[in-house]
Amino acid sequence: MPIDKKSLKVLLVSTEVNPYSKSGGLGDVAGSLPKALRDIGVDMRVALPKYHTIPVNLLDDAKKISEFTVHLSWRSQDAAIYAIDAHGDGDSVYLIENDFYFGRDSYYGYGDDFERFAFFTKATIEMLSRINFEADIVHFNDWHTGLGPTYLRDIYKGFTYYKDMKSLFTIHNLHYQGVFGRDILWSVGLNDGYYTGGDLEFYGNISYLKAGIMHADAVTTVSETYAHEIQTPSYGYGMDGLLRQRAATGQIYGITNGIDIETNNPETDKRIFVNFNADSPENKRMNKYRLQEELGLPAGKMPMFSMITRLVEQKGLDILSIIMDELLSMDVQLVILGTGESRYENMFKHYAWRYPNKVSANLKFNADLAQKIYAASDIFMMPSVYEPCGLGQLFAMRYGTIPLVRKTGGLADTVSHFNPETGQGNGFLFEDCVASGLMWAIRQANETYHSPHWDTLVKNAMNGEYSWQKAANEYVNMYKKVING
Ligand code: ADP
Repeated sequence: MPIDKKSLKVLLVSTEVNPYSKSGGLGDVAGSLPKALRDIGVDMRVALPKYHTIPVNLLDDAKKISEFTVHLSWRSQDAAIYAIDAHGDGDSVYLIENDFYFGRDSYYGYGDDFERFAFFTKATIEMLSRINFEADIVHFNDWHTGLGPTYLRDIYKGFTYYKDMKSLFTIHNLHYQGVFGRDILWSVGLNDGYYTGGDLEFYGNISYLKAGIMHADAVTTVSETYAHEIQTPSYGYGMDGLLRQRAATGQIYGITNGIDIETNNPETDKRIFVNFNADSPENKRMNKYRLQEELGLPAGKMPMFSMITRLVEQKGLDILSIIMDELLSMDVQLVILGTGESRYENMFKHYAWRYPNKVSANLKFNADLAQKIYAASDIFMMPSVYEPCGLGQLFAMRYGTIPLVRKTGGLADTVSHFNPETGQGNGFLFEDCVASGLMWAIRQANETYHSPHWDTLVKNAMNGEYSWQKAANEYVNMYKKVING
């Protein structure tokens, strides 16, 4: 049931919002969830930094609507607010401009990130009264905006305008915790009591992520399984005790992400070579042949395995490295698209050199190539050590590419092991984070690929429900619970 638009107003604050900025799943979620919520009647707005890397054509319709100064202890910096009517139904995207902080080549990785994102977070709260958007909830995401709930609770609630505003904090990845020395507190406008009192203290430092978990009215994460996992020492990265405390009072929610199924539609997507659907597997195969040509791999019907990922430990690359030779001894191809740690980049460079007819290592970030790989490949691997939700497997299934994943987090919630006897299932799962488990799943996938069951499996994957619809309704229910305290 659509809810009254006037009844629920939310500002989502994120350092990445696709298509303006994206380095991983956070950008996808912040780009597509608000649209799904607007579609069911929530007055949902989004704020992000105005990075100087945002493609200029996306800023054609941006208009400057406000300008003010943000105070972070001794330093005062100006923020200019640009608004975009992104969906043709009123302003919905707000860009916070400050060239000193965001006129740089990358989103992250600077010595003053603690200050850049504290500024951004504070500016988004400050913006609300300037543009007169009296949000019921400010929805902060990941460590970069983790100070938001603290600012709102301890600084802004003193003002009538902000008095009833609630905060929500979503953890997209608990591993990234925004840990800084205690001495930075004063420079982001907070006193040492946040360390000595323990609220932000984290093993001798302070953590922005902890601030979000401690002070938000509720905490969410991006799948049900991950919501449970992070309350255990193995997945909790030191925050599990605090998360258990918040869970005990019913303030931790797990809502599994969806994807934008309109822009990610194999029948209409202009970024792929040949459009297709569940009933035209031969057209999907054309994508493979065209990609083989583009990447300089020999043409052939062998299964094409792929990965599109940040090259970091989380993604299971250590167990993959152990079985690379075994995998490549089979009649397969492997296409990698990713950037990240040099040890992993070097590993893929090495195997591409050793097996030039089997491996294509594309060590870059390229959204168009990503789409072609989702469409062209047969098996998409995510042998993750942990995976809060994972979106790659959802994009892959939407394009008839079968996920081969470790049973953890959102992967466990969205992929089910294919059973050839019943014809049920949409992928391949292995349990323990060990190389033999991964190799077992690869053999299963390869065997099934060469069996008559493959088309059923592809159909199952393509016919799955990956939209935001269910999750959007769950968010609305949760927002309402938070508002009603
Ligand atoms: P994470 O958020 O941990 O990076 P997800 O699977 O949730 O992992 O989301 C990753 C997103 O980033 C997907 O949309 C994926 O297609 C995209 N992506 C990752 N690496 C690249 C790359 N090198 N080029 C293009 N897109 C990429």
